[in-house]
Amino acid sequence: MNLLKKPLWGTVVLLALSSSIFAGAGDAFYFPVQDYGNADYFQLGDSRTGYGYHTADDINVPSGTAVYAIADGVVKKSGNDLSSNGIGGNYLIEHNTSDGIIVTVYQHLDGSNREFYLGETVSRGDLLGYTGTTGTNGTAGSASGTIQHLHFGIKKGPYGSSYDSSCYTATSAYAPYSGYTSCEDEVSGNSSTWYDPRDFIATELWNYSTKYDTNENNEWRFYKIHVPGSYARLKVTVDQIMGDVDLYVRENNNFPDYNNFDCRPYRAGSSTEVCSMGNANNKDFVIGIHGYAYQDSDFRLKIRLSRW
Ligand SMILES: [Zn+2]
Repeated sequence: MNLLKKPLWGTVVLLALSSSIFAGAGDAFYFPVQDYGNADYFQLGDSRTGYGYHTADDINVPSGTAVYAIADGVVKKSGNDLSSNGIGGNYLIEHNTSDGIIVTVYQHLDGSNREFYLGETVSRGDLLGYTGTTGTNGTAGSASGTIQHLHFGIKKGPYGSSYDSSCYTATSAYAPYSGYTSCEDEVSGNSSTWYDPRDFIATELWNYSTKYDTNENNEWRFYKIHVPGSYARLKVTVDQIMGDVDLYVRENNNFPDYNNFDCRPYRAGSSTEVCSMGNANNKDFVIGIHGYAYQDSDFRLKIRLSRW
């Protein structure tokens, strides 16, 4: 765990307020790498001269980083592109979620060490392989200057469904998954066909951060936080509630739901809700905020860490 990186991506997250895209209440997605930090090489929607708009997050991780399936699914492609500008080991995995069918895209793995092949089923959290140094991932040859990273994207719709070929220059069946689109609205706005991975899976928070957000009725918002070993207590406060939301906190990287939580103040209406979690050192928590039915609710989420 590289603590020096954390405050940076905390800042990024605060700027990147989620839209209506969030993980469905029935799903608990895993991040594809354990430290899904700052995607500052390319993020979803970034434009790159000669390529188009990036359809994924590039998560800066060194080669050899374990990559996991974010949900149960079926492998639609398990490849190893070793050409000079190739993407290395790669997967397309189709998942049936409460937000509909999606395809997740993983590129720049060590393709000689893939754990799964076409048609095989994967379970959430399964190890897919490790990031590699082939082709466009790394510092050698034509890829000189690139930062080692995992390219990770989430496309709406089943694998092989029709797509606007004018937006994707490649012509193969894999064209919409190749990494870039020439159409900006494919990656931004309500009509986009790509999810923002960070919003879809969960929002990462960091200590001392404050976030303003909105729930629609019956929606869940999820936020994930890792408490460093030097802090013993995590205090989560939801206040400035316009409407009615309920706070849930659950330990050990598990997503809370109506029946599974370690703290749920469950106060009525716009009352402030607080969870104070002791013995929090080195633990991962997922914070769930549920919008009570029949109204949209604004709220403020505050995260504080203390040493005792
Ligand atoms: Zn990329």
